Amino acid sequence: MGWLKHVWAMGMDCGGDDLSERVRDYLFYDTATSVCSSCLRRAEGKVIIRDDSVFMDKLCYACGKREEVLLADDAEYYKRCREVYVKPSEMPEKWNTPMKYGCPYDCGLCPSHEQHSCLTLIEITDHCNLRCPICYASSGPERHQDYRTFEHIVQMLDAVVENEGEPDVIQISGGEPTLHPDFFRILDEAKARPIRHVMVNTNGIRIANEPEFAARLADYMPGFEVYLQFDSLEREPHVRLRGADLREIKQRALENLNANNISTTLVATVSRGLNDGEMGALVEFALSQPCVRGITFQPIQEAGRSDDYEAAEERLTLTEVRRRIGEQSATFVVDDMLPVPCHPDSLSMAYALKVNGSAVPITRYIDDETLLAGPRSTIQFEKDPAIQEAVLGLLSTGHSPQSASHSLAELLCCLPELVVPSQFSYENVFRIIIMDFIDAHSFDLRSIKKTCVHIVSPDLRIIPFDTYNMFYRGELEQTVLEPIRQELALAGMALLTNDERRAVSRSLPMAHIEEVAE
Ligand code: SF4
Ligand code: SF4
Repeated sequence: MGWLKHVWAMGMDCGGDDLSERVRDYLFYDTATSVCSSCLRRAEGKVIIRDDSVFMDKLCYACGKREEVLLADDAEYYKRCREVYVKPSEMPEKWNTPMKYGCPYDCGLCPSHEQHSCLTLIEITDHCNLRCPICYASSGPERHQDYRTFEHIVQMLDAVVENEGEPDVIQISGGEPTLHPDFFRILDEAKARPIRHVMVNTNGIRIANEPEFAARLADYMPGFEVYLQFDSLEREPHVRLRGADLREIKQRALENLNANNISTTLVATVSRGLNDGEMGALVEFALSQPCVRGITFQPIQEAGRSDDYEAAEERLTLTEVRRRIGEQSATFVVDDMLPVPCHPDSLSMAYALKVNGSAVPITRYIDDETLLAGPRSTIQFEKDPAIQEAVLGLLSTGHSPQSASHSLAELLCCLPELVVPSQFSYENVFRIIIMDFIDAHSFDLRSIKKTCVHIVSPDLRIIPFDTYNMFYRGELEQTVLEPIRQELALAGMALLTNDERRAVSRSLPMAHIEEVAE
């Protein structure tokens, strides 16, 4: 019972040796329901603010683990996400699972979820021509049989359309989706449906090596985009994250994408001490590529295969990434990155206009100050529906740079200090996104319910990408989630039918009953 002593000792700690010190060294901001990063049972947490940073202090009553996790190194931004950038939730057209064991054990989407799918991933294979040390899908060359059938993929596409009506963005992903033998048939099926924007999530090897393959992708424009893994301009991050120096491959992929003017977003996984010093350089590089409409930074997370990953050393929060972009970029400043109202805890976004070879950041003109007390100082944010609508329209996860160009043009008309270029198109739009997926360390139930990046499971549920990687991917639902559900059922903390209740009591092991009886 060493852990119990430990917890007891912590509970008795009144803030230092000096018992007369009765004031905590932090501000208690809120309570939180989290999950334990060891046993994944629900854990009780407190959100506290200390020295302008926000932490979650959590305790697992199942295994006794206590941890303090950094949520943000910018308390003002964190509070702004929670208190200002709030809009009513948009619902899907249907729910897929009942509420039974409580969040996050009922995905999904269950009726307790608070956002529809702005972006839905469909993984069409687990096969890959790389074996990255960091891969949430644990893909690799050895999974050469793992292609989903064409018919199954069509069902998955239909499942998203059924949930969303007209889905905003679908990402065809993997594994490496370009290796699927039916890849182009799958794209044809996606384009034949009322899906606004189709993306292909790729490492770019096929695009680099086969110019004719890249040229064929251009046939799917407009409403199509390549989401190109692009972690670094240096050798070492490629080796650490991807297991190989891919710089030349990425250059050739970009040459072929530029040659066909295929709308492209670069995607960089960022890790503390590895490539967080080159975010500014990556932004400037992305701006220099004609086909590139934006760059997305994804802080490294613990999911799937994460060889040698040390959360304490490598983890980065959204606000740390945001701060580094502002400090390192020659074009953007920190305040250009705004919370995205669909899911502000996890998403931050900045836009620039690319005109005559230079980039003019736009989002700095729509920060809180401008909205609340800027040039239109007598106008309150909520009292100017035109601005509010234009801002919310622009800052949506479900936008591609292409569809955002329309919202951006509307917004520029609301902000007369900026002039819309006469030949304005999505080729003028450049966007930075920080997409901070939630893992067991940063898990906050309040936030997880707002996630809007979802994935279709093989059995056609629509599951938040974050919880999918914790509880639902592959074997996890049986090996990790099922025991937790069983415990909740045995403890009478699940909404079960009478038949299910009887099945649970039948499964009660005798040894367990005897232990309880003693
Ligand atoms: S994360 Fe969303 S879908 Fe999953 S259980 Fe919670 S509310 Fe339901
Ligand atoms: S991260 Fe992407 S490229 Fe790397 S192994 Fe996984 S699926 Fe393949």
